[in-house]
Amino acid sequence: MPANLPTSPDIVIIGVGAAGIGAGLTLTRLGIPFVILEAKDRIGGRAYSDDTSIGHLWDQGCHWFHAAEKNPLRMIADRLGHAYVPKAEDWWRDYYDDGRPMPAEQREAIAQAVDAALSAAHAAGGSGRDISQAAAAKLAPPYGDFARFVFEAIGSGPAEDISAVDGARYDGGDNDYSVSGGYGRLIERMAARLPIRTGCPVKSVTAAPGGFAIATPQGTLRPRAVILTVSTSVLAAGRIKLEPGLPSAVHSAIADLPCGSCEKIAVELTGDPLPGITDGKVIARLGGDIFSLQVRPAGRPIVTSYLSGEHAQRMSALTDADAGAALGEVLASVYGSAIRRNIGRAKVTRWTADPHVLGAYSYAKAGRAAARPALIEAEMAPLFLAGEAMTLNFYSTCHGAHISGVQTAHKAAQYLGQVAVEPDVLWLPETLTPAIS
Ligand SMILES: Cc1cc2nc3c(=O)[nH]c(=O)nc-3n(C[C@H](O)[C@H](O)[C@H](O)COP(=O)(O)OP(=O)(O)OC[C@H]3O[C@@H](n4cnc5c(N)ncnc54)[C@H](O)[C@@H]3O)c2cc1C
Repeated sequence: MPANLPTSPDIVIIGVGAAGIGAGLTLTRLGIPFVILEAKDRIGGRAYSDDTSIGHLWDQGCHWFHAAEKNPLRMIADRLGHAYVPKAEDWWRDYYDDGRPMPAEQREAIAQAVDAALSAAHAAGGSGRDISQAAAAKLAPPYGDFARFVFEAIGSGPAEDISAVDGARYDGGDNDYSVSGGYGRLIERMAARLPIRTGCPVKSVTAAPGGFAIATPQGTLRPRAVILTVSTSVLAAGRIKLEPGLPSAVHSAIADLPCGSCEKIAVELTGDPLPGITDGKVIARLGGDIFSLQVRPAGRPIVTSYLSGEHAQRMSALTDADAGAALGEVLASVYGSAIRRNIGRAKVTRWTADPHVLGAYSYAKAGRAAARPALIEAEMAPLFLAGEAMTLNFYSTCHGAHISGVQTAHKAAQYLGQVAVEPDVLWLPETLTPAIS
C-alpha cells in the first residue's frame, strides 16, 4: 500500500462512489482509521463528470438532485458553493413526434396518459399488489410508450419486470435540480480529504482471525470490518470472491435487485447553432424511439440525451461516432437538417458493459419487493453492505447512496464499539470548505 495510507486500518471500504464517500466521511468524523479501495482510476463511481470526451463538462452518470428540497447533497452543494440550476417552470415545453411539434392537445393527452399510468402503478404498489408496473398501468397505444419511457427511466429495468410495490416506495420529492457544476465533481470534492487508493480492484474478501484478509493487486489488508459498496449487479456476478459466501437469503435478495439499463449520448455543438437556448428540455419521438434531450445545459454548447431500457442497450452498443450521428438525426428532426453540420465530438455511455458497475441502478423485480428491506436489514457483521440499492425510499439515487454510506458506517462503528453521536448526512471536515473554493 502507498506510504500515505493507513497500513492497518480498522475498516476497509470497497468502492469510492457516493456510498463509499459517505461512509468515509462518517469514519473520519468518528476518528476511526480506514482506507477506501477503488478499482477504477478515478473517484465517484456512477457519479462521473466528464470534461474531456466532447470538450465540455457533462455528467455520464447522475446529474439531477432528485427530491432537491430535502436532498442532503443539494444542501452540501450550498455549503461548498457548488453550482446547480432549479428546474424552470416551462421545462417540459417542447415535444416532437417524427419532427413535428406536437400540438398542445396532444401534449396534454400524453401528460394525462403518463399520469394515469404512474397513478395506477402507484395505487397497485401502495396497496401491496406486487405485480409489474406495466401490468398495473396496462400500457397501451397511443401513448403507452411515453409511460414506459418514464417507468424505465426511473426504474431502469423493463416495465414488465419492475415491482409496483418497490416503485411505490420511491420518493422522488417535488423538485429536480440540474447540477450544472457537475454531480460527479461535487462527489469528488466531498472526497478530497479521504484516504483513497484508486486503481486497486479488490479480488477477494476472506474471513480471518480478528476480521478479514482483503486481497488486492497491491497487497493484502487485514481490517476488523469491511464496508462493501459495489453495485448489486457486481455482487450478483461474483466479481469479488467472498469467503465465506453471502447467506443464501442475501444472495437471493441481491439477485432480485438487479441494475437495469439507462445510458446517455452527449454531442458537442460546433458553431453555436442554438444560441437562444439554455437548459432546454425536449422530448422527441423518432422512429418509435423516445429521446429525452437536455439542450445547452447551463448554456454549454452540447446536447445530452437520456435513454432507457432496450433503446439504451441498442445505442450503447454503437460506436461513439454512430451514437452521435443517431442523436444528430434527432436534432435534425427538431431543429432542421442544417444542424447536422454542427454535430462535433460525441460520446455514448456504457454503464451496463462497465465491469465495475454492470448496469444503471437497482430495481426490485415484480413479486420480489421484499428483497430490498431484506437486504437493508441483513446482519452480516463484520461485513456491511452499502450503496444506492440499500435505501427503501431513495434507492437508485446518488443521495440515497450517500445516506446509505453514512448509516452503514455508523453501524460498522457501533460494531467496533466506537459510536457516541447520531449519524449526520451533512457532515464535512472543517478543512474542506475553505480549502476548495
Ligand atoms: C446514466 C445514469 C444516470 C443517473 N442519473 C441520476 C440522477 O440524475 N440523479 C441521481 O440521484 N442518481 C442518478 N443515477 C444513479 C446514481 O448515479 C447512483 O445511484 C449512485 O451514484 C450510486 O452510488 P454507489 O456508491 O451506490 O455505487 P457506485 O457509484 O457504483 O460505487 C461503487 C464503486 O465500487 C467500485 N468497484 C467495483 N468493483 C470493485 C472492486 N472489485 N474493487 C474496488 N472497487 C470496486 C466501482 O468502480 C465504483 O466506483 C444515475 C445513474 C446512471 C448510470
